[in-house]
Amino acid sequence: MRTVTMEKKFIIAVDGYSSCGKSTFAKAIARELNYFYIDSGAMYRAVTLYCMRKGYIGKGFLNMNDILADIRDIHISFIYNPDILEFETYLNSENVEEEIRGIEVSAHVSRISQIEEVRAKMVELQRQIGVLKGIVMDGRDIGTVVFPDADIKIFMTASVDIRAKRRFDELRSKNIDVEFEEIQSNIIARDIADENRDISPLRRAEDAIVLDNSRMSVPEQMEWIREIIDKKRNESRT
Ligand code: C5P
Repeated sequence: MRTVTMEKKFIIAVDGYSSCGKSTFAKAIARELNYFYIDSGAMYRAVTLYCMRKGYIGKGFLNMNDILADIRDIHISFIYNPDILEFETYLNSENVEEEIRGIEVSAHVSRISQIEEVRAKMVELQRQIGVLKGIVMDGRDIGTVVFPDADIKIFMTASVDIRAKRRFDELRSKNIDVEFEEIQSNIIARDIADENRDISPLRRAEDAIVLDNSRMSVPEQMEWIREIIDKKRNESRT
């Protein structure tokens, strides 16, 4: 008799510090497994962009009442772009994928991501997407809060200088004019804000495996994760 075995689909959580290469790594895993890749940071960035455009947040001010009043009007979604084989972030039906990556959004996002009501809305959306299974989601609280039962949890870290250099090179390659020091101080400030906020601070889940990729290439990171995935697959078959 011929038997057909269905491979169990996993939820893979990739958390860690800003600019650690989480998205590059998570995307590569998703591509290899034919899973969906979801960038949870893009959601907080899109909410930040909304607030910036409305004038609810800027240098030295944040108008909480206006943000909370508008929260129901902020709709974030991901739509697949077959030309680049990736999902792109939409804010109220507008593709904002490019705009949310700018340094101005990066400078304000930590304050928006601290708002309880914003987090509640984003986490709900992330869990809805998780129903699909077969996803790789990266962020700060995916393994601790969003999917505490994720099948595989990775916690990524790398030295501040290496992270700043990578982000600097990435922005420069897109012809975005930035100073290295500006990137470096933004990364340090976001680390501090993400680790010290009251709600869902950045923390390694107890069962997360640490990946310090300071001196690892992407192929080396993939070799590392393949072993973990294979082990998990074997466990789930037994
Ligand atoms: O991952 P990325 O750097 O694009 O995330 C932008 C910001 O969104 C982070 O600095 C953090 O404040 C917030 N974030 C979060 N929780 C997540 C993902 C991102 O608070 N799961």
